[in-house]
Amino acid sequence: MIYINFLDKNHMPFMAITSFTGRWRFLSNFYPAKIKYRGIEYPTVEHFYVSQKIKDEQFVNSKNIPLIDCQEMISKIKTPSEVKEFGKNLKLRKDWEIVKRSIMEWALTEKFKDPDLKKMLIETGDEELIEGNYWHDVYWGVCNCQNCGERGENNLGKILMKIRSNIKGDKSEIIDFLLPGIK
Ligand SMILES: [Zn+2]
Repeated sequence: MIYINFLDKNHMPFMAITSFTGRWRFLSNFYPAKIKYRGIEYPTVEHFYVSQKIKDEQFVNSKNIPLIDCQEMISKIKTPSEVKEFGKNLKLRKDWEIVKRSIMEWALTEKFKDPDLKKMLIETGDEELIEGNYWHDVYWGVCNCQNCGERGENNLGKILMKIRSNIKGDKSEIIDFLLPGIK
């Protein structure tokens, strides 16, 4: 289970999973994981997360589409990368910056209720989980490009580590809370 990484500039090894690819792909929001919410089943956390960004209605293909229809449409988009692209053109709900972290945490808690995924998460032991990327996402991960310089808040990794320790402490039921800002 031990994975030594030399991310540190002084080449001091520390135990961390620094990229959610390969055998660690299950930690990525693009990994298949059914998330059910309000009668809609989303095939990945990414699908669900993008579906929650939107406000009342959306202007898509020169038509106004009601919220629930738009969410259903998102749930049926073929791949999470297409969903991510689609999400860039959406009109965001006003409180998005305030609620997005809780929404992510709720979705990831749901994801890791799956027995297989839960087991895989526990098997990462005490390793630090870092969503290393090259696309400048310094909120959810840590960007390794030259400009960003291995910088980032790593909120995705932090949430995953929190869920992991909750599962280990058998507190998984306690964090099954209602989403703030969603009626
Ligand atoms: Zn960058």
